[in-house]
Amino acid sequence: MKLSSKNLDQRLDTLYDAIIVGGGMGGLSAAIYLARYGLKCLVIEKGRGRSLWMQDLRNYLGIDPNTPGRDILNHGVKQAIQWGADYLPGFVEDVVDEGDHFAVRVKVGKQNSIYPVFHSKYLIAASGIIDILPQIENMQNIYDYAGYTLHVCMICDGFDMWDQKAVLIAGTESQINAAFVLNWFTPYISVLTHGLCTVGDEMKQKLADHGYPLYEAPIARILGENHHMSGIELTDGTIVEATTGLINMGSIYHNRYLKGIAGLEWDGENLITNNMMQTSHPRLFALGDLKQGINQVSIAVADGTLAATQIWRNIRRASTPRKWEENIARVTAAK
Ligand code: FAD
Ligand code: FAD
Repeated sequence: MKLSSKNLDQRLDTLYDAIIVGGGMGGLSAAIYLARYGLKCLVIEKGRGRSLWMQDLRNYLGIDPNTPGRDILNHGVKQAIQWGADYLPGFVEDVVDEGDHFAVRVKVGKQNSIYPVFHSKYLIAASGIIDILPQIENMQNIYDYAGYTLHVCMICDGFDMWDQKAVLIAGTESQINAAFVLNWFTPYISVLTHGLCTVGDEMKQKLADHGYPLYEAPIARILGENHHMSGIELTDGTIVEATTGLINMGSIYHNRYLKGIAGLEWDGENLITNNMMQTSHPRLFALGDLKQGINQVSIAVADGTLAATQIWRNIRRASTPRKWEENIARVTAAK
């Protein structure tokens, strides 16, 4: 059922089998599996997540490569609700482990917000990350190109940059190292720091040895039309020609609500899991970009399958088996 501030009261006494924080690729996959195992689950989604910014999905099996993330999300929400999952637009602010269940506090509504608390035996952290973009005066100019010809993921879109003139936008010296991986796809790389870091002599020499120009002035704007880049104008008036680019400025991790949970093992900002996506907390699972590993739709979707299946196994093994009572009664009576 789709929940909102109008009807969520009906679920405040429910002890869900699992609450899923984040209705992106991994979270919706988990919800579809959990619901089809007959388990009660609630997906909570704040909106404007990473997969919504994905303008096409060219490396996933069996779908039209021009399918945008928003279409997959819309379809996935319908599927999950159709199989019996609950879905609530809202922002998970905090999670408390109350010993045998989690209490999940959600902000619902941007204005006149309410803060209901939902309860579940298991928690699935599927809240992902979001890419840091270069900040310029007119951010709409960045959004017009990011996800189209100005990419954020080399594994996803390196192919689409093949032998093109490309910019690499990096915010630290170590992020510039992506140039030496991007050169698998194209050698025509210009490196831009957007004025965010100083570049040491060793890196400057390495870039020069590869023939990759370095521009240290801040970006003024992206040039082009209809989401197709033609270059980048810097604040010092320089124009760098490029038909594509890669932003490699790191990510923000959507994990604040987990920071109060004792004993969780982290690798930096990523959660560590076993091969069924269970974290070091036996009732807490993590999927997709938020956990250690490769940030891809195919991985997040498979992670959702694994987590949901392990939760089902745990719950099923602790339940009394269903018996065909009438048959037992009949056989016993016949004796
Ligand atoms: P997401 O799909 O990001 O889902 C996490 C969800 O959690 C989000 O919807 C977010 O709104 C929500 N959320 C976060 N915090 C909270 C909170 N506190 N409360 C409630 N909800 C919350 N991958 C590919 O495989 N192929 C591609 O071609 C590809 N192209 C991409 C292009 C772009 C521009 C971008 C940005 C990404 C691309 N990716 C691609 C990567 C892909 O989007 C991610 O790997 C994938 O979405 C990860 O799934 P996830 O479920 O872990 O996270
Ligand atoms: P496959 O998709 O089986 O691919 C292996 C291929 O290798 C086959 O095409 C085979 O012909 C070929 N091959 C084998 N040996 C050789 C050889 N020596 N030389 C050349 N080729 C060879 N999964 C779900 O997630 N959801 C479902 O609803 C679902 N329903 C299913 C319903 C049915 C009727 C069946 C049979 C399976 C279903 N599955 C479902 C399971 C799903 O099909 C498998 O998990 C999935 O296909 C496994 O992918 P795979 O690449 O490992 O193997």
